[in-house]
Amino acid sequence: MNTNLFYTFLLLFLFALLARWFKSKEAEWLGSLGEYKVRKEINKIEESSEKYKSFHDLYIPKQDGSTSQIDHIILSDHGLYVIETKNYSGWIFGDETSKYWTQVIYKRKEKFLNPIFQNKGHIKALRNWLGEEFAHIPIHSVVVLLPRAKFKSEIHFSNAYVIYPKQLKQVLEQHRTSEIDGETKQQLIRKLETVIAKNKQQQKEIKKRHVQTIQTNRKQEDRYIQQNRCPKCGSALVIKNGKYGKFKCCSTYPKCRFTQKIR
Ligand SMILES: [Zn+2]
Repeated sequence: MNTNLFYTFLLLFLFALLARWFKSKEAEWLGSLGEYKVRKEINKIEESSEKYKSFHDLYIPKQDGSTSQIDHIILSDHGLYVIETKNYSGWIFGDETSKYWTQVIYKRKEKFLNPIFQNKGHIKALRNWLGEEFAHIPIHSVVVLLPRAKFKSEIHFSNAYVIYPKQLKQVLEQHRTSEIDGETKQQLIRKLETVIAKNKQQQKEIKKRHVQTIQTNRKQEDRYIQQNRCPKCGSALVIKNGKYGKFKCCSTYPKCRFTQKIR
């Protein structure tokens, strides 16, 4: 074999390896590029006015001990915007109520979970975690698609926005009612800052702290019940006979609906 031919083959072989590696990394790179673009748009909005404050990569504690991850939250003077970023390409078909959306790329069809549903779950977790104190604050759902995805469904969404990064500011400026006062806004900022993860270590710590809180609450609840006090309102508990055996319930029922089976 002559040496020239050998080097040609070697070069071709190396090139093929390189191409495969690029292909395997493509999704990851495009993903972070998309995330970067959305982040840039949010930063621009935040710098444009004092009334906007943004939070990235939040881990919201849930009742069952797990956490709900939120890409971005923007707080304005009129409410909270929960943003879910989606790095799709190709044509996207979907509506508000079906469980799955469809992506069509090079004649290949793929189904994926409706991001509005997904964001609804995030908002529910956020609502629960924020609690009574912030129950009056409006929360809006925003799904951001990247420009390389073409959204093909002509639908007006009533409970969410499905937009491209450039439309974000326009969405934020649509809501001008229910002004949040400065003090409440500061409290919200302080609370949201406790669940931001700047790295993997912080992610772990947030989750750990959360599990500990749940355990402490459960212990305290048990102590109350042992003392025949309602853990919800502090009133006395009474024992009743039910279809499935005896149970303890709050003496103020139906004002407070706490019940617990006696084991
Ligand atoms: Zn009670």
